[in-house]
Amino acid sequence: MEYRSIAIDGPSGAGKSTLAKRLAQELGFLYVDTGAIYRTVGLAARRRGVDPADEKSVAAMLPGLSIIMGYGEDGLQRMFLDGEDVTSAIRENEISACASKAAALPAVRDFLLEMQRKTAREHDVIMDGRDIGTVVLPQADVKLFLTASPEARAERRYKELLERGQRADFDQVLREVVERDRRDTQRETAPLRRAEDAVLADTTGLDLEGSFQLLLGIIRERLNIREGTYEK
Ligand code: C5P
Repeated sequence: MEYRSIAIDGPSGAGKSTLAKRLAQELGFLYVDTGAIYRTVGLAARRRGVDPADEKSVAAMLPGLSIIMGYGEDGLQRMFLDGEDVTSAIRENEISACASKAAALPAVRDFLLEMQRKTAREHDVIMDGRDIGTVVLPQADVKLFLTASPEARAERRYKELLERGQRADFDQVLREVVERDRRDTQRETAPLRRAEDAVLADTTGLDLEGSFQLLLGIIRERLNIREGTYEK
């Protein structure tokens, strides 16, 4: 059976995960958050005292790691590191930078590629990340590139941190967003860029509902599905 895949790429804070989660629910697809997988590697490096930017040490660490992506009863993705549920731990602010440093290393990207492709071979997926349309699923049925201004993205990230009860400073969050963009777009391996055949969606002036409707419309048109009538 052929499964469908929807690739959503874009910089951090563009709303990819929130939107992809809702779209997956609406369409009955599995939502795959690939950033969570890179975050798990970042967390592993941090816990072991390994510099996440040092290719040799990170590559030496990888074969000894057990990274498993699972789904809870609520249908939401959960990450396990060496048997421990680290779904919340990988969301700590300092893990973002560790993840993006480790994600620049070819050894890490190779290590995680098959896990992502296998999931897409076995399910209808909406997968979000940085290189899904360009590297992981170049044959995806629909490719979206979601973006928004750095200020709009920092604002969302700032609110998200406060809602989670974490302390945050807006200017620092903005600096981190810009720095992560720089690292993600300028790395040599699988840099963040729009696939030629991806539809560009800018959500700067849109709220969540507006962005959701915009993307749903594009996906329905591309997959040729009418409201409520998705069938293989
Ligand atoms: O999406 P999220 O912000 O959780 O991802 C954390 C980091 O993982 C990103 O900054 C990026 O460096 C990296 N990443 C990646 N490729 C992906 C998904 C995430 O390089 N497909």
